[in-house]
Amino acid sequence: MKIIDLLKQNTPSLSFEVFPPKTETTFESVKIATEEIAKLKPSFMSVTYGAGGGTSKYTLNIAKNIKELYGVPTLAHLTCVSSTKETVRQKIADIREAGIQNVMALRGDIPDHMADDDRTKWDYHYAVDLIRELKEADANFCIGGACYPEIHPESTTQSDDIKRLKEKVDAGCDFLTTQMFFDNNLLYNFLYKIREAGITVPVIPGIMPITNANQVERAIKLSGSFMPQRFKSLVDKFGSNPAAMKQAGIAYATDQIIDLYANNITNVHVYSMNKPDVAQKIQDNLSDILLSD
Ligand code: FAD
Repeated sequence: MKIIDLLKQNTPSLSFEVFPPKTETTFESVKIATEEIAKLKPSFMSVTYGAGGGTSKYTLNIAKNIKELYGVPTLAHLTCVSSTKETVRQKIADIREAGIQNVMALRGDIPDHMADDDRTKWDYHYAVDLIRELKEADANFCIGGACYPEIHPESTTQSDDIKRLKEKVDAGCDFLTTQMFFDNNLLYNFLYKIREAGITVPVIPGIMPITNANQVERAIKLSGSFMPQRFKSLVDKFGSNPAAMKQAGIAYATDQIIDLYANNITNVHVYSMNKPDVAQKIQDNLSDILLSD
């Protein structure tokens, strides 16, 4: 099923993100964790892709497994920046062969070893190049793109970032998923601005449950997200008690999700990080809400 069609439904729903194993030895444990999450019957599951291609075959294996065993629609991520046209075309062919209709088209972070490269020689510079390639390969793909309520770290202004985002949508993005954020007002503000800029496709908010104090620094480094005082206080108070921190982090994420639903967002994407217990707890916290219109 195409994600764009799922997003037409008006009832609140949850989707979950998982990541593939980095090596063959961890494949089985990751597969089990992703299956546990699939059993929760989310609206869809996304499977990330290691830029550089190292985990690419596992992305497809995991996505195909979830779809075939549990009937959960899957979204396979694909990055392009460190790849050649030949490699990307092969990956696209593999995605089609696996029967996956939904692709998250990403540039990927520029690997350190490519930072000083002559960029004129690169086959792909931005996600928009990959979106065009996907559309050309199969006009029937349902394509997602990334967006950044707090602007992408490489952009100097939000208006420039939004201008680039519009180019992605005009090239064929059917929907957008946001980077994590911890203050919903940042999302509402962003939505207002992109709608003003003529971007009308559905936007799926991405929520990261922070379940241990060590995750905080990593999450900020990765996303550059603003940490509201309310969230900082929670980490200060409970960060040294793993069980309490987990409970507080899940409660904070749940609270954000309820506010999003209350503001007419229908599908929320949870960065569930291969943690079935976290996905389950959030879903349980929302059990009646998920059944409401
Ligand atoms: P782009 O849309 O290409 O944008 C990157 C930057 O370039 C922005 O600053 C943009 O404004 C600018 N830009 C875009 N087009 C142009 C242009 N034509 N000229 C000049 N500037 C331009 N990474 C992974 O490796 N694997 C994953 O599975 C993965 N999944 C993700 C899922 C989500 C929902 C998000 C939000 C991010 C994900 N990432 C993933 C991280 C992502 O790859 C990085 O954030 C990366 O730095 C940017 O990717 P992008 O697709 O947003 O790039």
